Amino acid sequence: MSDQYIAQTVETLMRRYPGEPEFHQAVNEVLESLAPVFEKNKEFEEAGILQRIVEPERQIIFSVPWVDDAGKVHVNRGLRVQYNSALGPYKGGIRFHPSVNASVIKFLGFEQIFKNSLTGLMLGGGKGGTDFDPKGKSDNEVMRFCQSFMAELYRHIDADTDVPAGDIGVGAREIGYMFGYYKKIKNIFHGVLTGKGLLYGGSLARKEATGFGCVYFCNEMLKDRQSGFENKKVVVSGSGNVAIYAAEKAMSLGAKVVAMSDSGGYIYDENGINLELLKKLKEVERKRISEYAKEVKNAKYAEGCAGIWTIPCDIALPCATQNELDGNAAQTLVKNGCIAVSEGANMPCTPEAVKVFLDAKISYGPGKAANAGGVATSGLEMSQNSQRLSWTFDEVDAKLHQIMINIHATARDTAKEYDTPGNLVNGANIAGFLKGARVMISHGV
Ligand code: NDP
Repeated sequence: MSDQYIAQTVETLMRRYPGEPEFHQAVNEVLESLAPVFEKNKEFEEAGILQRIVEPERQIIFSVPWVDDAGKVHVNRGLRVQYNSALGPYKGGIRFHPSVNASVIKFLGFEQIFKNSLTGLMLGGGKGGTDFDPKGKSDNEVMRFCQSFMAELYRHIDADTDVPAGDIGVGAREIGYMFGYYKKIKNIFHGVLTGKGLLYGGSLARKEATGFGCVYFCNEMLKDRQSGFENKKVVVSGSGNVAIYAAEKAMSLGAKVVAMSDSGGYIYDENGINLELLKKLKEVERKRISEYAKEVKNAKYAEGCAGIWTIPCDIALPCATQNELDGNAAQTLVKNGCIAVSEGANMPCTPEAVKVFLDAKISYGPGKAANAGGVATSGLEMSQNSQRLSWTFDEVDAKLHQIMINIHATARDTAKEYDTPGNLVNGANIAGFLKGARVMISHGV
């Protein structure tokens, strides 16, 4: 009966939103876990929870015109999907990347509902973005774009309504320009965005949070198999915000990170990546990762990012983008002795890859659990902004660490309760869903 209810809901959604493969993938992945939940809780179907949770509460699409340094006019498309507000103000990042479209933003917004629920904080789910590519643009061009983006978005967000953050292509620079413009046109200084600079309301440890959190989560999975990061060989894809701090935390726990990538290719340094050099190249100089191999004698650079998964490792941390690790890559990782995969990125592993990991019984941490440290620390930034106080780095990091331990325990225990021990995909989906569903029932239709 519940299988039929789920199948009908999926069918309606696919019909309503054709041609949106990432969105369909994310919904299918969650709904596959939920049949036993609907079997046990008949009131969810009676209250139409499934139809209500898969349909965004509000979708805003707007044009973003801006002028480049040569005086030429460009128009990009902006999106904000306010997905579900049962648990608090909509919360989720803004992505600037040419691949952004409604399918990508809806998949990210949908995942965000369950992730935010898992943090234990009062946060609803949302996501936004645009197909603008900040790469190769001057600071002034990025500023003008951010101002034009906010000239529309400001109508829809507020510290108690919808609180965006950064994501791919949106870091401290972009958040600063968007915050400055919001303040100017609304004449209000409050925590409407997270990931802010430390001098105007940002939280210590927010920059590090997603990467650190991904490693804290992985460490909990490793503990369950009487292991840890000490002396392990780690491969991290990406070299952006999440990847850099995942690599830093893994190294601080005694691991050797041997490979990292960007959208052009990957570097392999068998002596262990020199993270200070990598940070200088990527965070300060905004260069390509291929430059690393020019500066480090024994390091090798290879074109194309998928090849990174052929490097033998004990632990893989995909921290770049969606669907970057497919079934073949997963088989290679398992064959090479990989024992744990923790997702820093959102949905980086394809469904085929996830199946390979689950079948091989290696530890697999899905993104909505393993990368929830970023949004959790955004939630901590909101708390500090409301209090007009700043906590120390250690205070925030300790809270983040505890949240990741709790998320892991919740996912593990829920997986066991629903007769799929070790399957953290099921555990995270079910636990994230249950809290939101119960609150939706309390709020009425
Ligand atoms: P950044 O923009 O800082 O870095 C993204 C990295 O991934 C870059 O190295 C980039 O390479 C690479 N990348 C981006 N797109 C592609 C692609 N299509 N193919 C191959 N490589 C690609 O973003 P973040 O580090 O913030 O985000 C990375 C992932 O983590 C995303 O999935 C994001 O949604 C997720 N995430 C981020 C959080 C955060 O707090 N920032 C929170 C939770 C999840 P290049 O520079 O060449 O484009």
